[in-house]
Amino acid sequence: MTVLVVGSVALDSVETPFGKADEVIGGSGTFFAASASHFTKVQLVGVVGSDYPFHKLDPLRARGVDLAGVERAEGESFRWRGRYRHDLNSAETLETRLGVFSQFRPKIPDAFKKAPFVFLANIDPRLQLDVLKQVEKPQLVACDTMNFWIESRRSDLIALLKHVDVLLLNDAEARQLTEHNNLVKAARWILERGPKHVVIKKGENGAFMFTANTVFFAPAYPLEDVFDPTGAGDSFAGGFIGYLARAGKLDETHLRRAVVHGSVMGSFAVERFSIQRLMEIGETDIRSRLEDFRRLVAFEEELTA
Ligand code: AMP
Repeated sequence: MTVLVVGSVALDSVETPFGKADEVIGGSGTFFAASASHFTKVQLVGVVGSDYPFHKLDPLRARGVDLAGVERAEGESFRWRGRYRHDLNSAETLETRLGVFSQFRPKIPDAFKKAPFVFLANIDPRLQLDVLKQVEKPQLVACDTMNFWIESRRSDLIALLKHVDVLLLNDAEARQLTEHNNLVKAARWILERGPKHVVIKKGENGAFMFTANTVFFAPAYPLEDVFDPTGAGDSFAGGFIGYLARAGKLDETHLRRAVVHGSVMGSFAVERFSIQRLMEIGETDIRSRLEDFRRLVAFEEELTA
């Protein structure tokens, strides 16, 4: 089943302890599309400025991502500059330049309005709500956010939650949004405001999925070399939603598998800058990492006489 994603299409400049990348392809919509395209057909909606090297999105197109909803507007593209120090779990935002993004009003092409799965990637929550007004009764609406929007648009974000089935966010964002330090309490706070599922990612410490009555946990893949964590969250979301869209089922078993697929895709994203690694891998790499995951968490209970 098709996934519609609305998100940022950015130029990222990133510093990590291992190197620097200047003005590379990034953005929440881009990473999500790159990841989800391994599982299903993706329709991307976003905006770029007249300075955007549009041809650099060709690898996405080659993977079947429909870019008809990426508008080209007069002005500067959205730019994000971030740094990771030795703690690769948290990005320090050095600069956010909204550019054409500040005037962006997502226009969902008619051909995209019936998408059964909708992912509202990290953008202004008012725009996320605007997208939901344009689409026709999706089976699943999932949403991501970040500190930038929690600080500047908190009440809009809370209003949006009523219309969201799955909220994905990291632990710091969950604490900031809910004002609960304890993640179980934070998850309950979110579940009381609309979503049926909340996925709280903890970077290299794995991810929890909470529903009203269940909790599931998947570790992060123990990578020896994490190169650049940018996009891990969006790639996680791409694996999670992409897998569900391919399976076409939303029961607990499939949702748990989706968390593991999210973890797998996040682990690939961080192996190189930008979407590079996500563009290199294929089905065999994904299968083999899923198998590693199964081994990672498998154990046998001791039999007592
Ligand atoms: P993550 O998956 O959380 O590491 O997301 C990283 C991506 O989010 C980067 O490629 C940035 O371009 C993008 N980004 C950073 N800040 C914002 C923002 N305020 N709104 C939308 N996208 C953003």
